[in-house]
Amino acid sequence: MGRKFFVGGNWKCNGTTEEVNKIVSTLNAGEVPSPDVVEVVVSPPFVFLPLVKTSLRPDFHVAAQNCWVKKGGAFTGEVSAEMLVNLSIPWVIIGHSERRLILKESNEFVADKVAYALSQGLKVIACIGETLEQREAGSTVAVVAEQTKAIAAKISNWTDVVLAYEPVWAIGTGKVATPAQAQEVHFELRKWLQANVSPDVAASTRIIYGGSVTAANCKELAAKPDVDGFLVGGASLKPEFIDIIKSAE
Ligand code: PEP
Repeated sequence: MGRKFFVGGNWKCNGTTEEVNKIVSTLNAGEVPSPDVVEVVVSPPFVFLPLVKTSLRPDFHVAAQNCWVKKGGAFTGEVSAEMLVNLSIPWVIIGHSERRLILKESNEFVADKVAYALSQGLKVIACIGETLEQREAGSTVAVVAEQTKAIAAKISNWTDVVLAYEPVWAIGTGKVATPAQAQEVHFELRKWLQANVSPDVAASTRIIYGGSVTAANCKELAAKPDVDGFLVGGASLKPEFIDIIKSAE
């Protein structure tokens, strides 16, 4: 079963209107493989979603960086899945490690968010990954399996889910996982899906890597059989994001 290469750009809490317009101009001018080969999704902060959605080339899509865990209402400061759907935002990132660690989002809370977002028709980039401490303790696979298990317990359809393996020690640190390290975890995750969800889901779910991906290291990572693309932070704000998209070829 073919898995289309996926490249996401997580702009995090960055940008002014001028900077966003500049990034969009660069993306719009970039020569990239056809959408048959690579799916590109960029994720600006909430306030810039309408601007990016209307100005971005039509072959690239947009994602929110989070959404509320249930129907909107009296939840000050939150943005609901319904609002994203109302704005025709197709994707949402859920469970990014910055939210898990800083805002203390638990595996269960993240899983509830994934399930609710899917139930509203959003597609989800679900993030998982171990801390340095957990890696050094040898519990990487157990940690990501536990995070995936929480999600698997609450959803029945994986068609609209991309699983982003993002080791916390690699995010924003310049310390990228080696292609072998990424491949090993992606392989284990696929094996976990095969045993605990289904062989079909294991074969068709895209597992992308995130953590200090750059134009310089993306080719080698992309060459690994279980690496189906990237979630890119810092480098997605720069022209080199185009080169990362090209690693799909
Ligand atoms: C991210 O925030 O998802 C990420 C991978 O960041 P960076 O590429 O900057 O490490």
